[in-house]
Amino acid sequence: MSGHERPAPESDPVPRGMFRIGRIAGSDVLVSSSWFLIAGLIAIVMGPRVDQVQPGLGGWKYVVGVAFAIALYFAVLLHEASHAVVARRFGFKVHSITLHFLGGATAIEGEARRPRQEFWIAVVGPITSIAVGAAALALWFVTPDGLLLLVIEGLAGANLMIGVLNLVPGLPLDGGRVLKAGIWAITGRVHTGTTVAAWTGRGIAVLVAVWALWVSRHGAVLNPLILLVVALFLWTGASQALTVAGITRQFSGLVASDLARRALTVPDDVPLAEAMRRAREAGAGSIVTTTADGRPVGVVDETAARAVPAERAPWVAVSTVARTLEPGLTLPVRISGSDLLDTVRATPASEYVLLDDEGRVYGVLAAADLLRAVRR
Ligand SMILES: [Zn+2]
Repeated sequence: MSGHERPAPESDPVPRGMFRIGRIAGSDVLVSSSWFLIAGLIAIVMGPRVDQVQPGLGGWKYVVGVAFAIALYFAVLLHEASHAVVARRFGFKVHSITLHFLGGATAIEGEARRPRQEFWIAVVGPITSIAVGAAALALWFVTPDGLLLLVIEGLAGANLMIGVLNLVPGLPLDGGRVLKAGIWAITGRVHTGTTVAAWTGRGIAVLVAVWALWVSRHGAVLNPLILLVVALFLWTGASQALTVAGITRQFSGLVASDLARRALTVPDDVPLAEAMRRAREAGAGSIVTTTADGRPVGVVDETAARAVPAERAPWVAVSTVARTLEPGLTLPVRISGSDLLDTVRATPASEYVLLDDEGRVYGVLAAADLLRAVRR
């Protein structure tokens, strides 16, 4: 990366061991340092084949392998970008696309709200890979013998394999998310879908591990090792999905309106002491400031209010200890479960104002109350 290049302001910080190579479909594209390992591995494995097709290249034969690795991961990038584009279409924020040892990953914020969204975000990836593989296959028929043919052959085979293998119905594979969407659509319960697809994923991980052992009995070293890494990757991914399903189920009973504190609304030019007196009188746990025409504009920060000395409180306007209601600090009163947690995580604050369907103040949700409910 050259010194004068600055990441776009909306970019997230780049995690350790990652390189940011650009942006695609509005998301950062990161390459994990483990990618260089796989590029080297591909170059070594391809070396003898390159020698066969074009003898006498010497060390340059490895350059062909690295070029192939770059082309292959460009195809993986297309696969991930297709997930990102569809997720974006459904209104999800896509933070980054990461290319790593075993392919790629797309970091999408939040969870699909409907099975249909889950299905399309997942299935478009394998469809893209199969389309790229089919295009390479078409090129293969018209390309003359030589190194280019070798690369195209590799791309056709790899993309068709990536497409088909990703359709295997177990989490964390795309096919697992398709299965999850199907069960979710039938049962109406997202965690049932996740649980079934995650256990299938674990089953597939075990099968791959058994396959690795079987292959190793035939004397090979590299293939069983790669298969074991794949098995571990599948098992870990499936287990993570199970954990998430457990949390989702636990939090489905979390409803914002149940946790609401009664809120007093006061015009924002009222003195703090007066606002606090009215709140005590009304038995309100929170104070929301409004404009003269009653529109909520701020929520009193309890800590900031308590920090004002009692003798100063009659002389400062309540607005000076209120946090302005930016988007994210007002929540629909009906919000619940993981939606509620995701929203709160996106805009951390100590208080949120709950609004009813007409935009009137229903109450205030204190982060401390939410935390207590989560711990329970
Ligand atoms: Zn995918």
